[in-house]
Amino acid sequence: MANKTKNLFWNREAETMPASEKKRVQLERLQATVKRAYENVPFYRRAFDEKGVKPEDVKSLEDLKRLPFTVKNDLRDNYPYKLFAVPMSRVVRLHASSGTTGKPIVGAYTRNDMEVWMEVIARSMAAAGVTEDDIVHNAYGYGLFTGGLGFHYGAEKIGASVVPVSGGLSKRQVMLWQDFRPTVLCCTPSYALVLAETMEEMGVGLNDICLRVGLFGAEPWTDQMRREIESRLGLEAFNQFGLTELIGPGVSAECICHNGMHIQDDHFLPELIDPETGETLEYGQKGELVLTSLTKEAFPVIRYRTKDITTIDPEPCPCGRTTVRMMRLAGRSDDMLIIRGVNVFPSQIEGVILEQKELVPQYQIVVERQRNLDQIEVQVEAVDELYQKDESEILRVTGRVQKALNQTLGITARVVIVPPRSIARSEGKARRVIDRRNLT
Ligand code: AMP
Ligand code: ZN
Repeated sequence: MANKTKNLFWNREAETMPASEKKRVQLERLQATVKRAYENVPFYRRAFDEKGVKPEDVKSLEDLKRLPFTVKNDLRDNYPYKLFAVPMSRVVRLHASSGTTGKPIVGAYTRNDMEVWMEVIARSMAAAGVTEDDIVHNAYGYGLFTGGLGFHYGAEKIGASVVPVSGGLSKRQVMLWQDFRPTVLCCTPSYALVLAETMEEMGVGLNDICLRVGLFGAEPWTDQMRREIESRLGLEAFNQFGLTELIGPGVSAECICHNGMHIQDDHFLPELIDPETGETLEYGQKGELVLTSLTKEAFPVIRYRTKDITTIDPEPCPCGRTTVRMMRLAGRSDDMLIIRGVNVFPSQIEGVILEQKELVPQYQIVVERQRNLDQIEVQVEAVDELYQKDESEILRVTGRVQKALNQTLGITARVVIVPPRSIARSEGKARRVIDRRNLT
């Protein structure tokens, strides 16, 4: 899709800071964060003491390596408030991520943390060319999930007109596109596809709406999916990344060059590690993203292992930003399926599905263990035209897709083409994998 947007900066000074100055700012903020965490959070004090490090030992950014990691279970063990570094009287907002198992992950914000959050989302939106002249249709879920209120406040900060629709009631959403004339759409990529489908079912065409920019994130998606959404909604899509543990959306976002997501690295310090050994990797290598908050007051996080697999490109971007860029996520180390010893990412399967014109990108991956052997089945919807044809045609497509999948994955996957609109749609993050193996 051709660029329809301008390269705008929300905070040019911060976003184009020269490397040497950035390092100075990062170190200063890291030292303050480490001190605050050590002095106010018993969990961090214990973890530092166990490793034999003290806040004073952080004399350069290199010393980050000496600090202990924080993992999701540490957050669960300290549920709900035990990791906060300020008294509750200073907390003005709480959010939570449902996660897949156990207790949710809780995020807390002081008034200043809210300012930082709005700032980083405003930067992300400006990088996609959003201004006060835009009308922002925000279909991320409102509530405990950080997506809804995060984009809401960020868009208000920019001065755009926000329509707080939240997820669901898809037909009404499309009606609002026609009546309120929004120019920017915020939601998960899977919900963007549901809305595209709804629009087509309602007979609403691209000329009836005026979306220009899409801010999509909160779940893994592929480049093929981006092209599909862009052509069906007539907009330019920008990948948005964040997590509750760090702040929510706003950790990183694409600019108009679409060559990775700029990490707001004056607020979040990124590292890459080998997920097996915990060893620090060079930028450019592929590994697990580890993030340290540099300015958060209520809930500082030190060396948080995100489980997200990516690479980092530190080269300055043609857009002028000097913030380092993380590439589209290949998936999460914990979403990766290991099928008969082969690593399989749902994104690889999605890539193959999106290349088939007879299929709709609505799918589910079912994994089962039969007689000690893992079996993978990909259920994917047919377009109406295919489903109306006779069975032999469906079988022919099934065979072709199965072959393409086997070539991409390196293992045999069973393909089942299911009727149009038979797979449950999601209003937020899609649930793509059903793992029926009892692996615990
Ligand atoms: P939550 O805290 O519930 O919002 O979940 C955060 C997680 O969602 C991250 O750790 C990622 O695994 C995933 N995520 C968020 N944004 C993206 C994105 N743009 N692409 C891929 N995965 C994402
Ligand atoms: Zn850029």
